[in-house]
Amino acid sequence: MLADNLKQVEENIQKACSNAGRKRESVTLIAVSKTKPVSMLSELYDCGIRNFGENKVQELSEKTDQLPNDIRWHMIGHLQRNKVKQVVPKAALIHSVDTYRLAEEINIQAKKINRVIPVLIEVNIAAETSKFGVSALDARQLAEEIAKLDNLRVRGLMTIAPYTQNPEENRPYFRKIKELSVDIAKENIDNVSMGILSMGMTGDYMVAIEEGATMVRVGTGLFGARY
Ligand SMILES: *Cc1c(COP(=O)(O)O)cnc(C)c1O
Repeated sequence: MLADNLKQVEENIQKACSNAGRKRESVTLIAVSKTKPVSMLSELYDCGIRNFGENKVQELSEKTDQLPNDIRWHMIGHLQRNKVKQVVPKAALIHSVDTYRLAEEINIQAKKINRVIPVLIEVNIAAETSKFGVSALDARQLAEEIAKLDNLRVRGLMTIAPYTQNPEENRPYFRKIKELSVDIAKENIDNVSMGILSMGMTGDYMVAIEEGATMVRVGTGLFGARY
């Protein structure tokens, strides 16, 4: 049953790639498995999925221990500094860095285990008061500050677009964050690259891909509704 969902999502991704004249390999599908049981993750693993996204440190930790170790775990939720120590050994990529203080703590914990952690800067592109993330204006400055830390590397930007029934409404936001990432890349900041653009969820991932997403985070479309 999850195989059917995956087939549909995969078809949509391919369609969006071809609309945009992009190669399928330029987009990574992250299966957002928050609240879902390990058995369902296993089912998608058996279909070939190797990237999973979780938004809570505790849940991510528990699941990593129960599933094969070739999975790349993505921390996509708001991260508190006191949880960093737990997530740093497990996460392949942290999508949600939005303060220097958080980056500093990731740096300290990563240094302790001799890792260099790739991170994304979370941008609140629509300036919604309900959301975490830095403003578009502050993103560049945060990238410059984080660049000085030895044990993490800024690899791009992440955004959560507004909830909407009509994905076209988010197209201008996706376009805007793509422009921001191009602008930051042009600065050639040491240790900062802008190769990753993590944007697009079940409701709008096709539009996000058309506007340059390199990672889409799909939960409901793969696993069904969360209750
Ligand atoms: C839950 C979540 C998603 C997936 O949302 P769906 O609408 O179920 O696809 C993507 N990104 C983040 C940050 C999330 O918390």
